[in-house]
Amino acid sequence: MTHCKLSLFVLFTAATCAQTASPKEVESVYPEAHAFYLDLHQHPELSSHETQTAAKLASSLRTAGYEVTEHVGGTGIVAILKNGAGPAIMLRTELDALPVEEKTGLPYASKVHAKDDAGHDVPVMHACGHDLHMASLLATAEIMARSKNTWHGTLMMIGQPAEETISGAKMMIDDGFMKRFPQPDVGVALHVYNLLPAGKVAITPGVYDANADSLRITIYGKGGHGSAPHTAIDPIVIAARTILALQTIPSREVKPGELAVVTVGYIHAGLKNNIIPDDAELGLTVRTYKAEVRKQVLAAISRITKAEAAAAGAPREPLIEHYEGTDSVYNDPALAERLKGTLEAALGKDNVVVEEPHTGSEDFSYFVEQGIPSFYFSLGGADPQKFAEAKAAGTTLPSNHSSLFAPDVDPALHTGIEAEVAVLRNLLNASPEELHKLTATPQR
Ligand SMILES: [Zn+2]
Ligand SMILES: [Zn+2]
Repeated sequence: MTHCKLSLFVLFTAATCAQTASPKEVESVYPEAHAFYLDLHQHPELSSHETQTAAKLASSLRTAGYEVTEHVGGTGIVAILKNGAGPAIMLRTELDALPVEEKTGLPYASKVHAKDDAGHDVPVMHACGHDLHMASLLATAEIMARSKNTWHGTLMMIGQPAEETISGAKMMIDDGFMKRFPQPDVGVALHVYNLLPAGKVAITPGVYDANADSLRITIYGKGGHGSAPHTAIDPIVIAARTILALQTIPSREVKPGELAVVTVGYIHAGLKNNIIPDDAELGLTVRTYKAEVRKQVLAAISRITKAEAAAAGAPREPLIEHYEGTDSVYNDPALAERLKGTLEAALGKDNVVVEEPHTGSEDFSYFVEQGIPSFYFSLGGADPQKFAEAKAAGTTLPSNHSSLFAPDVDPALHTGIEAEVAVLRNLLNASPEELHKLTATPQR
């Protein structure tokens, strides 16, 4: 923090430094945050079943002085700390874990099993790092509550359920999030990942991640004996042709350079080698950045699927069901620019990098769609030494959702807390008018 002492004479920098959490502030909450992390990591809960997780977070936030409302959109929580006139700023964490068997071998690895929504016994693991997000949010909440002289306005800490099923944000909004609570002037969230060493953060102005669409396609044929294909219409052959034709959408129809991913993640058809089945089912995930490309790709999938069935003389048009979807998360560019400076002051210039958009997806976009200008950034989680070794070897460390995903907790959690405090203090020193003016440029 030498740069802070040196620049005390420069008013602007001094003000920025005052927004940076001091090591003493961070250490005063760190042991509790770390213990909370270990507890959450060993007690993960599946999407929409985060009852214990939410109860623990709610109770700790209440102890820290927040007014906490539970069961917002299922297990969601909204914790509010009012501190005079000023903007309303929300910081969101997810609550849920994944049906993954942890294989990290860590002493605090999860051994939890639970019943999923289909009634199957599944292993459960915080394989996406949401436990780290919660621990960071709690520590940040405590620091902010103990330093009300450094900010003014309304601070909203959000615990969102069911991010992994892209449904929790919508559930909270459908439960009146925008009406029952102060309307946030800015929304903030972060995500830990292994593409950056712990200690660093990454910013992506504009489009942060991808539009995601999940499709289920049923292709109808006419069943029959495997020895007599002339008496049947084979849906497996139609499906095979359809899958290959769909790959021409990114390669032949979408302009080169635009993101378009069409993945057929499963094909289910038939039960026995000598029976031509009645139908075949395909499961697709589609990722795009731009709204117009998304529209083009979805239309092309429908056109090609129907045309392939028609070409084969199928008795019925295929059924195309769009059962899940979320928009890309959009980072307000002016906000990203402002907070880049804030993060550089807090973490050091070298520890803040600007990154290309990701092809993953996030339902934080539902909050953005409500008109909340947002700042969603990435938190480095990789052990710096392992990261350097992997880079030198041309490999990558286990990604989020891997059974081996294991963030380097100490540096990542410290950086998460420092980054969140700096961002919140910066925003909670502005007036609502200043933030509205900053984010008034048309989006996308
Ligand atoms: Zn995830
Ligand atoms: Zn996640």
